[in-house]
Amino acid sequence: MSKFKAIRIVKEPAYAASYSEFDDSELMDGDVTVRISHSTVNYKDGLAITGKSPVVRRFPMIPGIDFAGVVETSDHADFKPGDAVVLTGWGVGETHLGGYAERARVKGDWLVPLPAGLSPAEAMAVGTAGFTAMLSVLALEKQGMTPDRGPVLVTGAAGGVGSVAISLLAKAGWTVIASTGRAEETAFLKDLGAKDVIDRAQLSAPGKPLGKERWAAAVDCVGSHTLANVLAQTSYEGAVAACGLAQGMDLPASVAPFILRGIALLGIDSVMKPKAMRLVAWERLARDLDRKKLAELSTTIGFDEVIETGKKILEGKVRGRVIVEIG
Ligand code: NDP
Repeated sequence: MSKFKAIRIVKEPAYAASYSEFDDSELMDGDVTVRISHSTVNYKDGLAITGKSPVVRRFPMIPGIDFAGVVETSDHADFKPGDAVVLTGWGVGETHLGGYAERARVKGDWLVPLPAGLSPAEAMAVGTAGFTAMLSVLALEKQGMTPDRGPVLVTGAAGGVGSVAISLLAKAGWTVIASTGRAEETAFLKDLGAKDVIDRAQLSAPGKPLGKERWAAAVDCVGSHTLANVLAQTSYEGAVAACGLAQGMDLPASVAPFILRGIALLGIDSVMKPKAMRLVAWERLARDLDRKKLAELSTTIGFDEVIETGKKILEGKVRGRVIVEIG
């Protein structure tokens, strides 16, 4: 038996996350064991670390909804020792021991090969948030949205999903409008490719069922009144990819945008996304994501800074993406 460092979440006597050790015997079922080199901090990791929402449903838990690493042992036909791999979602860090650890045992079906041209650190700079941004862009494209239709709005712009979405959309030729509550990040957002930056207060209060048509498409990380207002201000036959709930899980909207303007509301889930689509999204990320911009929107932290960063992300104080060096 060997021990490895990991963050441990316990429920008793009180919900708490701490830097700890696990033993190999505590690893859960799976056919591939991975030596983790990098992870990342997503909004959901913040929820798990703090217990603010009940995302952890098994105790003890190792949080961390994604990781990159190298296969140590494998009984899965697609992977052999030494293969570089990436995992996002599938309940890892929620129901299955997660990525804030030196080791993970998971189902090989959950893994994808590290995309060619991306380092493990870059793959985690993308992480679940960047993968979700890519899925959102692919959903808009599948709906027939093209940059010649007009601008695209990104809400929660200075966060992880938002910043990667801006970079991807700008690269694809869109005129990007970024909505943020952090005016001090205007230069950062413009550097990523946003043409205009608006104050999120324009969208966060209860609004009218329909408003002036302002954008052809949108990626919404925020939900609640913001999503309702985004829908109400999307132009005729436009589309909105809804992927987040930073303002709230509710959607206090009317059907007016759907039945009077033919707006499409596209739901985005990254957790259970089938493997074929994962491979498409990662290939596109590896091809299209500007590495310089990815570096600009990323910060690297050590393992011992994860818990503090998890708290900060829920306060909206984390800019862009955070890479965690595990090894
Ligand atoms: P971040 O915390 O990095 O980004 C969220 C951003 O939302 C913040 O940076 C802030 O942007 C904005 N925001 C925060 N609070 C509020 C508020 N009260 N009202 C309006 N805007 C707010 O998180 P991630 O980018 O990792 O995730 C974004 C959202 O997407 C989360 O809700 C997350 O749960 C969800 N998500 C969903 C996935 C899926 O599979 N559907 C996968 C990954 C994430 P600014 O400062 O610019 O205003």
